[in-house]
Amino acid sequence: MPIPGLIDPVTVPRAAAARADGRINLVGLPREAIRAALEEAGLDPSQAKLRAKQLWHQIYNRGATAFAAMSDIAKPLHAWLDERFAIARPEVVEDQRSADGTRKWLLRTADAQDFEMVFIPDADRGTLCVSSQVGCTLNCRFCHTGTMRLVRNLDAGEIVGQVMLARDALGEWPSRPEGRLLTNIVMMGMGEPLYNFEAVRDALAIVMDREGLGLSRRRITLSTSGVVPMMARAGEEIGVNLAVSLHAVTKEVRDEIVPLNRKYGIDELLAACAAYPGANNARRITFEYVMLKGKNDSDADARELVRLLRKYKLPAKVNLIPFNPWPGAPYECSEPERIARFSAIVFEAGISAPVRTPRGRDIGAACGQLKTASEKKSRAELDRVAQAA
Ligand code: SAH
Ligand code: SF4
Repeated sequence: MPIPGLIDPVTVPRAAAARADGRINLVGLPREAIRAALEEAGLDPSQAKLRAKQLWHQIYNRGATAFAAMSDIAKPLHAWLDERFAIARPEVVEDQRSADGTRKWLLRTADAQDFEMVFIPDADRGTLCVSSQVGCTLNCRFCHTGTMRLVRNLDAGEIVGQVMLARDALGEWPSRPEGRLLTNIVMMGMGEPLYNFEAVRDALAIVMDREGLGLSRRRITLSTSGVVPMMARAGEEIGVNLAVSLHAVTKEVRDEIVPLNRKYGIDELLAACAAYPGANNARRITFEYVMLKGKNDSDADARELVRLLRKYKLPAKVNLIPFNPWPGAPYECSEPERIARFSAIVFEAGISAPVRTPRGRDIGAACGQLKTASEKKSRAELDRVAQAA
């Protein structure tokens, strides 16, 4: 069946990109691309196939960070690999811990761009909030990330590298099927994942690979602000749970707070949700709704939300997010009684509408608070840092 808006449905293994030191980073490459890179570097086809399998296991199951640690690969090959290839994760610049146990890491790419990642431990699970871009181009008015000037896509290695860094920090190598601290992943850090589709897809394929990081697709959620033309493709090619940042039920308000709404309106968005492959009552779509005082939090808003979800027959749950403040933000958080009333109206209509407890607010790790200092630097400064590195 053709997927609307799909331009090129075939997954093409990306060419391996060289680093400043000329080596190719194996982290983030699809399995097939690792094999191809080994062959290109001179191994014969059967050797390349065998070594690719061993490297995959070492990198994603054992968490190896150096070829020298790979005891199943003959020693003379260690130096050969090391000259040509790297196993690089983003650099950890800072590791902060909230009073509630939430952790936030400031990470840096090889070309000196900073971004953040957050780990939220709970009694029965541990959720890693992963970034897809440095900054975000979408400028939602309530989101700190949207105010960053510099934006660049993270590559697949920088995305899957976040999960690997979290495993490093939590001491969770080798990958094990049970008893993990890191159990869930949400693509809800900095950036709009559907504006960086290929890298997010390739990174999540490695996260879900049984011989890779081995997380089930049911434990991964991708959040989008509503990039309608990419949603069907996300369902087909990534296939994880979908969360949609709805936040408002009228054109007027959504146009103001999520400017992307001027391009893809509420009806178009909800129709795309109804068509999302794999959405059913067992796997409901999550609608995120940030509670902004006097803006989108009235009883009438709650009733309209119910009407819309019913109109499109959506298997839905609603996540009410108390607005997390940041310096200079143009909104305030709704009062707790207002949020409770809003939740009750949606709940009484038979739709689950829990209020999300803010986590890590004290270290600026809560939803919408992520923003790094790197954007304060000018382009020229960044170039200097990159050259010095
Ligand atoms: N760009 C994607 C994913 C990252 S944002 C998206 O927008 O869906 C993750 C969630 O945090 C989104 O629902 C976003 O709207 C919400 N958010 C952004 N700023 C917030 C703030 N200041 N307070 C509470 N939630 C916020
Ligand atoms: Fe970007 Fe999401 Fe923030 Fe909007 S809410 S600016 S899409 S990160």
